[in-house]
Amino acid sequence: MQTLAYGFPKLGEKREFKSLLESFWKGKVSEAEFLTGMNALRDWMADTYSSSVDIFPSNEISYYDFILDTALMVGAVPSRFGEYKGIETYFEMARGRQAMEMSKYFNTNYHYIVPELESKNFYLLKNYPLEEYLYFKSKGIDTLPKLISPYTFLKLSKALVKSEGSSLPFYHLSKIEKIQDMENYLNAILPVYEEVLKQLKQEGAREVLIEDPALCYDMDSQEWDLVYEMYNCLSKYVHVYVITYYDSVSDYERFVRLPVKALGFDLVSSTENLENIRKYGFPSDKKLIAGIINGRQVWRANLVEKIRLVEELLKITPHLLISNSCPLFHLPISVEPEEELPVHSVQIEGLPTLSLKERLAFAKEKLKELKLIKEAIEGHQQARMEVERIQHLVSVPFGVREEVREKIANLKEEDFERKVPYRERSKLQQGVLQLPAFPTTTIGSFPQTEEVRKMRSSYVAGKISESEYKEFIKKQIQQAIKIQEDIGLDVLVHGEFERTDMVEFFAQKLEGVATTKHGWVLSYGSRVYRPPIIYGDVYRPAPMTVEEISYAQSLTEKPVKGMLTGPVTILNWSYYREDIPKREIAYQIALALLEEVKDLEAAGIKIIQIDEPAFREGVPLKRKDWKEYFDWAIKAFRLCSRAEPHVQIHTHMCYSEFNDIIEYIYQMDFDVISIEASRSKGEIIEAFERFKDWDRQIGIGVYDIHSPAVPTKESIASVLERSMKVLPKELLWVNPDCGLKTRRWEEVIPALKNMVEVAKEFRERY
Ligand code: GLN
Ligand code: ZN
Repeated sequence: MQTLAYGFPKLGEKREFKSLLESFWKGKVSEAEFLTGMNALRDWMADTYSSSVDIFPSNEISYYDFILDTALMVGAVPSRFGEYKGIETYFEMARGRQAMEMSKYFNTNYHYIVPELESKNFYLLKNYPLEEYLYFKSKGIDTLPKLISPYTFLKLSKALVKSEGSSLPFYHLSKIEKIQDMENYLNAILPVYEEVLKQLKQEGAREVLIEDPALCYDMDSQEWDLVYEMYNCLSKYVHVYVITYYDSVSDYERFVRLPVKALGFDLVSSTENLENIRKYGFPSDKKLIAGIINGRQVWRANLVEKIRLVEELLKITPHLLISNSCPLFHLPISVEPEEELPVHSVQIEGLPTLSLKERLAFAKEKLKELKLIKEAIEGHQQARMEVERIQHLVSVPFGVREEVREKIANLKEEDFERKVPYRERSKLQQGVLQLPAFPTTTIGSFPQTEEVRKMRSSYVAGKISESEYKEFIKKQIQQAIKIQEDIGLDVLVHGEFERTDMVEFFAQKLEGVATTKHGWVLSYGSRVYRPPIIYGDVYRPAPMTVEEISYAQSLTEKPVKGMLTGPVTILNWSYYREDIPKREIAYQIALALLEEVKDLEAAGIKIIQIDEPAFREGVPLKRKDWKEYFDWAIKAFRLCSRAEPHVQIHTHMCYSEFNDIIEYIYQMDFDVISIEASRSKGEIIEAFERFKDWDRQIGIGVYDIHSPAVPTKESIASVLERSMKVLPKELLWVNPDCGLKTRRWEEVIPALKNMVEVAKEFRERY
């Protein structure tokens, strides 16, 4: 039996990836220095892998995103970027003025760049897999070149299609839905993959690792036929190891018949794969890659159980590899540097007092778990003892609060309902707010300047006192309110200067949730965040946002929005325990947030925004699992948003596909939603063409905040005009498509000025 791992976080122990990338963007390091730095990361990654596992891949250090790399590999450079001129063009595509759309990778918070297929003329442009393979080969290191399967690539792409009789532009980008189209695209793209594999083979590679998570979506028989043909073609050159993850494969029997050398399963996210292996057995001529170590959660594995599982699998097939269940880049690098995690407070007889740290395993520790399992199976005495020690540790109960559990058990149907229906609420609210047509607002955060970040770290380091820090935040709020009033916005925000991150901020205030010091994870490009760890029952010991919001409101006559992060997003962007259902954790968070809503309401706040940018990404891959998810996700939102009818509840969502879930979003029963739509042009608008009963107010983001470019008035107006084709103008709000914290004031002020001017013009014109 061998161990294999993949998807190790490329960030580096000291976030070297991020600093290198950002220094390069700022022109502080040359391209040559940049590439040298990236190679150092490659070396570090190979060292890390090889100290624990037998087999590991190459082509894992992408300079922005591995899907974008694949688009470049096959020559899919949209024409607006002109001819490909190397790394410059690459970053233009990723983050330039006309950057490509970003979307979330399956049900995760990793954002990939959505390939735009303008034609079927694919050609080999950049052979990244070969480049990295050769880099390691020159150092005498044998790696498994890793590629995204053509099928998954196409599933994640959008293709230019002709619109038929809709209000959209004549050509627009759309997912490849029809089987005939998929076949045509596959036929067009496969020759490029063949060329890549041929070149790899010439250079000595005999095996490749192909990631095909799209095989976990619902698939029909015709799609399986295409996938079969695809692997037939790819297997002509090298041995193919195909891995799937984030869910069970959609059809086990078809999957195991694919003409490949090894088949990889996620044995953690659901029980289906394992049940099928047990039921149908496993072909004797193939290798089984068992993803048994959870790549998405931070808990130490119960190794006794894992070993039992491996022993069972070994009886089914001797050709076994054990692996992580999905890419490890969802995890921080190591728990080693975490010194301040909570300690178990209740001493249980016969059990050691332990810190949360002892229960955790991040990416590096996961590699060690694979190694330990292998050694224990091979009979190493020391490994066996270590397994037993860990088993003892992880069985200690942690963070239980009976009163929280009781509250959840006592919830009644009416706890999920607002007292007055939307149509009546909206009249009450307008009576209070008196907003003009096309009301203008922002999504919450304003620039987190160098100064803001410096003051925060001084405060955290104890260099300035709490009162000094609070004074400083107040000054920032004052400035922000003044700027917004000068620009002429209708609904103001306090700017979120006191928040590091929209989830971490609440995590630090809630009990039962731990935050780390160094647990950074990349979400896209160079953007990192530290997912909190929900380890116990969650409750709110004290108000979390009331002080700053009320202060902001005291400075202006205009309404200031209270800003909260929703329960689904807090849950989805955190690691969470696996011993109680997700539904229950979501309700626990929702109850804590409801207390906050009630406090804001009592403080006279008239609008409360509960952000749910992660609402979409939590949607399961398979339709059969949707009902259960939406049931608790919608209810969790409703539970925390049960404000008085005159209080206007907003929510915000971004960077996801919403078309197919708009009906569910509607059921959340908010009053206003703001939604991203400037990058994913058109499509969200299509959804409203279909869902005619939509009657909630909505702000379709009029410009992309991820780009430093100041949007023109024409581009802002065109989003509004597009929206007006499918939505009554009375429902429309005008706002950017997300928070502005990553931007600079010099960009924000002119952008918002343009936005407000457009809104004013629209009030005159329509
Ligand atoms: N209110 C948050 C902000 O403006 C929302 C961020 C988000 O949607 N990711 O920063
Ligand atoms: Zn957003």
